[in-house]
Amino acid sequence: MIYEKAPAKINLTLDVLHKRDDGYHEVEMVMTTIDLADRLSFEIINGNRVEIASENRFVPNDKRNLAYQAATLLKERFNIQKGIRIFLDKHIPVAAGLAGGSSDAAATLRGVNRLFDLGLSLEDLQEIGAEIGSDVPFCVMGGTAIAKGRGEKLTHLPSPPPCWVVLAKPDVGVSTKDVYGKVNLQNMTHPNNEALVQSLKKQDFYNMCQQLGNVLEPITMDMHSRVRQIKERMQKTGADGVLMSGSGPTVFALVSRKEKADRVYNSLRGFCSNVYSVRMLR
Ligand code: ATP
Repeated sequence: MIYEKAPAKINLTLDVLHKRDDGYHEVEMVMTTIDLADRLSFEIINGNRVEIASENRFVPNDKRNLAYQAATLLKERFNIQKGIRIFLDKHIPVAAGLAGGSSDAAATLRGVNRLFDLGLSLEDLQEIGAEIGSDVPFCVMGGTAIAKGRGEKLTHLPSPPPCWVVLAKPDVGVSTKDVYGKVNLQNMTHPNNEALVQSLKKQDFYNMCQQLGNVLEPITMDMHSRVRQIKERMQKTGADGVLMSGSGPTVFALVSRKEKADRVYNSLRGFCSNVYSVRMLR
């Protein structure tokens, strides 16, 4: 049996530059992994099928599952005539803007590579991962990176200074497609990615908090007022920086000290069903 951890990511920035001829949006965003992770196990089984098992009822167990897609892709590409059973112990909330499915796919690429001794490098796995989804290449490596293109062109960066991350996911369904469909390129406030990158290089926590920005945040907030309410509550209770991750609906707070993080966390319990307080991954 082989084990892999699949950490969630948050966006410190997310900018949309333009819409491309192929229909995708050209993005520029800084992402980082946090200490909230799914745990995956992999084993070889009789037969030639990929089997997905999970106790989370929101997780599909067929080809819609990104871990299934990742395992099948490697099986086909390397002509693996064996069955694989993948158990997904989900801790990342589903459809949250935290790349849970993409991170599971990335962990599956790493896991199946080890299970069958394929000898692929992380760069090889990133290239294969891009065929599954735009966030998968980042998740293969984790850490902190600025992503361009569809999200697959990565440059690694220093990780944020140590801090607490409090996350709250309201019970609202957000369609990433709908949110991107409402992007109005003429009328939006772009984050300053260069300034955010500098703050990471200087390990300047407070400047990093000031440079957080996501062009999708006002769009999702207009669709779901709960997202705005969570942000306001986090700001009021002492968060140093607050932002929605991805297309939402999860909102996260960055907090320098544990006592303050506890205050933010406690103010959200009862208000929101999924609340977490975790460390940034270094
Ligand atoms: P995105 O922003 O890319 O839409 P997300 O991070 O917001 O993704 P995910 O947790 O990846 O959200 O789930 C999005 C959808 O993908 C879910 O509704 C679920 O049906 C499907 N899905 C596919 N594979 C997985 C997986 N391994 N874990 C959870 N959901 C998965």
